Amino acid sequence: MPPVIRTQPHAGGWLEVVCGPMFSGKSEELIRRLRRAEIAGQRALIVKPLIDDRYDVGHVVSHAGAKMRAVTAQSGGEVERLAGGYDAVGIDEVQFFDDAIVGAIDVLVSGGARVVAAGLAQDFRGLPFGAMPTLLCVAEFVDKLEAVCHRCGGPATMTQRLVDGRPAPFGGETIQVGALDSYEARCRACFAPGLDVAAGALAHAG
Ligand SMILES: [Zn+2]
Repeated sequence: MPPVIRTQPHAGGWLEVVCGPMFSGKSEELIRRLRRAEIAGQRALIVKPLIDDRYDVGHVVSHAGAKMRAVTAQSGGEVERLAGGYDAVGIDEVQFFDDAIVGAIDVLVSGGARVVAAGLAQDFRGLPFGAMPTLLCVAEFVDKLEAVCHRCGGPATMTQRLVDGRPAPFGGETIQVGALDSYEARCRACFAPGLDVAAGALAHAG
């Protein structure tokens, strides 16, 4: 048996997914890959959802400070229109796009583009996030990054959402971008699921 060697396809497009919890370096990795495509002379574009307005609307900025110009889109269809004709297309925070992002990526890849989609694998409840399960299924290449658990220092695969220092209610809004101090990366053992709506009655009573 020959060793498994990870090589890029010779022709046509393909999909790479970079996923993980918050603070795992997803945006940094996305920027690294797109920057290298640019250096190779390829036309490269990063698209991000309009909802993500932390730091800088016109750029993707990693927590570590890496930065690359980006355009915003509100839907999968808009991603398809904006990214048409590019050799390499990065999509940041891909979990925030509607389900149409799956078809949009398929069109771009079928047209010969290399698409790199980065985003959260799980929401703050620990459940699969948006179109991410489907994208992980159909991708040629998958990288699941881990962060460092803010509690124990172990490998963190989950995002803990905290409201006033306590685990966020299970029934709370999924999308809350930009409040850096209300999220922690945690390992499975340190992850604390929030109270559900029924148990929330206890919180009201207290
Ligand atoms: Zn831990």
